[in-house]
Order: sequence, then C-alpha cells, then structure tokens
Amino acid sequence: MRTPFVAGNWKMHKTSAQARALVEEMLPALDAIEGVEKALCPPAISIPALADALCGTSVGLGAQNMHWEESGAFTGELSPAMVAEFCRYVILGHSERRKYFAETDAAVNKKIKAAQRHALIPIVCIGETAEENEAGKTAEVLSRQIQEGFRGVDTAFAPSIIVAYEPIWAIGTGRAATAEGANRVIAQVIRPMLAQVFDEAAAQKIRVLYGGSVKPANAAPFFAQPEIDGALVGGASLNAADFTEITRLARA
Ligand code: 13P
Repeated sequence: MRTPFVAGNWKMHKTSAQARALVEEMLPALDAIEGVEKALCPPAISIPALADALCGTSVGLGAQNMHWEESGAFTGELSPAMVAEFCRYVILGHSERRKYFAETDAAVNKKIKAAQRHALIPIVCIGETAEENEAGKTAEVLSRQIQEGFRGVDTAFAPSIIVAYEPIWAIGTGRAATAEGANRVIAQVIRPMLAQVFDEAAAQKIRVLYGGSVKPANAAPFFAQPEIDGALVGGASLNAADFTEITRLARA
C-alpha cells in the first residue's frame, strides 16, 4: 500500500506575507486530514516563514528547485543543504524549469543524487508536450526522462522517490488528462520503466502522482485509479478551500 500524497506547487505566486496568510487560512482544515501525506512548496524566499508556520503540524514543506553542488559560485542558486535545513521535499525537473531554464535530464539526475545525499524526498516531474503527445511519442519521452533522470540512482533510495506525471498540455490549461488515460500511461510506461531502472519491488513502492489542472471538481476520478497515488497541484493549491478539498478527496 502506497500512502497517498498531495503537494501544492505555488510556483511564482505569493509574497512571504501573502504565503503566511494563505497557510494560516488553510492550515486548520489541512492539518486535520488524516491518511494523506501533505506538502506545500512555496517560493524559496517564503520557506523560512512557512517552516515556522508548519512546525509541529502534519503538513510538510518543499522547495521548487535546488542546485546539485554542495556550495560555490552559483549566483541565485540554493544548495541541497540550504533546502534540507527547512524542507523535507524538493520538486525537481518541473516542466517549467526544463522549458524556461533549460534544465536537462542530466541536471535532474545530479539533483536527484544530491537529494539522496541530504535525505530530501525528491518529487521528480516528467511529462510530454502536446506535440509529442499528438505524434505518439509519449512513451518515448517519458522513458528517456526516467532512464536519464534516474541513471545511477541507488535502488535503496528509490522507495523514497516520488514521481509526478504532468503532461505539459494539461498544466495550467484547464484541460486535465482523463483519469483513465493518466492511469494507463503510468501502468504501461512509467512503472514498467521504473522497474527496469530500479527493480519491480522498488517500482511498486514509488508513489506516482498526477499533475495538470487538478481541481476539486475533477480530482476524485484520478485518486480512484490504482496507479495514481496523489496529485501535484498548481493553481488550485493557491486557494485554501480548493486545496483542502482536493487533499481530502485523496484519502485512501
Ligand atoms: P496546474 O494545477 O495549475 O495545472 O499546475 C500543475 C503543475 O504544474 C504542478 O506542478
């Protein structure tokens, strides 16, 4: 049995004061939800404020990115130790990082290994573009992202890893994948490829989330799928009632 996991990716939204206010608004109801592992991933500058607010609650904290080096001349970057000082989770390889900041599978690979060194749980995002999807290349793209992203990663670390399947055409578009379609991609491509890179037992332990236009109105069918272990929520995680409701729907 894989424990359901729901995380809110706030992307580049909310000042630190606004982030604190949003957490205060959602925390009582969110904290009370049992049977789901929960995390919020605010902009990096709000991480210390949220660490205070979430201390002693059942809601974990995650970063949206980090560098793989331990320290050095990397202006604007955060090291794994800096993230691990406050966070339990780190989102890696989000499609927006890949698209706008030229993040490669090789970079994601180094970041996953850095996460292991610092006992951070990586939420590794994979997904195909609309063009790739329409050209029938979904399996090819996801297989490459998994093979190269997880190359040389310890099988012993695999059960800690969380994978988020986020079809790029479904992100922020209001056009979510169908629950059956996402489940099929995970069952036929993602989990078999994880079994190939690690082994079958490890692949069965890795939580695979769906992400892309998840809302309270469409979340339940995703969570009803056997291969979907939760959600990575963007826009709807900026609304206290919506994010709480989605999390509630994920209960096992
Ligand atoms: P939306 O939920 O806004 O589509 O974003 C999904 C996402 O990219 C989460 O990482």
